[in-house]
Amino acid sequence: LLKACRRTLEKGDKLLIRKAFDISLEAHKNMRRKSGEPYIYHPLAVAHICAEEIGLGTTSIICALLHDVVEDTELTIEDIERLFGQKEAKIIDGLTKISGVFIEQGSSQQAENFRKMLLTMSEDVRVILIKLADRLHNMRTLESMKHEKQIKIASETLYLYAPLAHRLGLNAIKTELENLALKYTEPVIYKEIETKLKETEPERKKYIAKFIAPLKETLEGQGFRFNVFGRPKSIYSINNKIKTKGVTFEEIYDLFAIRIIIDSYGDKEKTDCWKVYSLVTDVYYPSPERLRDWISTPKANGYESLHTTVMGPDGKWVEVQIRTTRMDEIAEKGYAAHWKYKDGSNEGQLDDWLKKIRDILESPAENAMEFLDNF
Ligand code: MN
Repeated sequence: LLKACRRTLEKGDKLLIRKAFDISLEAHKNMRRKSGEPYIYHPLAVAHICAEEIGLGTTSIICALLHDVVEDTELTIEDIERLFGQKEAKIIDGLTKISGVFIEQGSSQQAENFRKMLLTMSEDVRVILIKLADRLHNMRTLESMKHEKQIKIASETLYLYAPLAHRLGLNAIKTELENLALKYTEPVIYKEIETKLKETEPERKKYIAKFIAPLKETLEGQGFRFNVFGRPKSIYSINNKIKTKGVTFEEIYDLFAIRIIIDSYGDKEKTDCWKVYSLVTDVYYPSPERLRDWISTPKANGYESLHTTVMGPDGKWVEVQIRTTRMDEIAEKGYAAHWKYKDGSNEGQLDDWLKKIRDILESPAENAMEFLDNF
């Protein structure tokens, strides 16, 4: 864990993280997970996700390590405040309050609870991010739960947590949550798509190599430093397409996209992306109506990228996504990852982001059901 967060560690942080770990270990010492493992494995894994996969700093890591102690052990919020501080106590209080939102009730009551939960979480966006890390680890270890519980947790994940991750720009986590949820809610369909993806992989790899070769040559010729590769669509997205468009697996033309990630920094980023776009469309003919410029106007969740669809070999339409290393980190890990690019204090930036998320969540809604639908 300490290794995973070394980039954000400041003086004294190591000791605080160790202290949080020791307290959590002691508090959970008589508990085990459903899998039989000592309970501490769970908060430790959640903290690791926060550090490695979301890019959060020391306060969040401490709170992740202690996220279940108030709910499940004798420690109280007052203990946390005394041992760590007000900030940590507030976040853990938020995390404790939002568990148990899904107790059986009518759907509009549940919807109202959701809204409250989202507002509670948005007081400090770290509450949401830690909650997402918690959910991700629970989904990764869903195997050892009873079937009924698996379905319940997987459904909640699809209904709330995956859209939440999407809204916050945590694409890698969103995709993993969706895939894991589908695996439990539609096991037969999941397996079927997984098998078909495996079977068609060699053919796809061959095509991608053919597609990439001339691009590589051109970009290298122009002195660009970059990484180019094919990214398959997720099993969840494939299933979605089959269901909503009424097509078969074989009929899906965009089973993968090509991603070009360029080494470019500062005020050169935008120009370089457009230069690469220009070079790509010198090689392959673009579809004029399929150009998306998320660089000039990034998405609300922070996503920046240039998308185009071009005519590849054998007359196949292929989507090409062009972005810089920084943009790619934000696209995969969400805005939190961006903090790593700034050294020293980034509190101001964090506050701006928190405010933005709060504005989204506090946008007026007539009733809770509608709010959720919109959400
Ligand atoms: Mn937990």
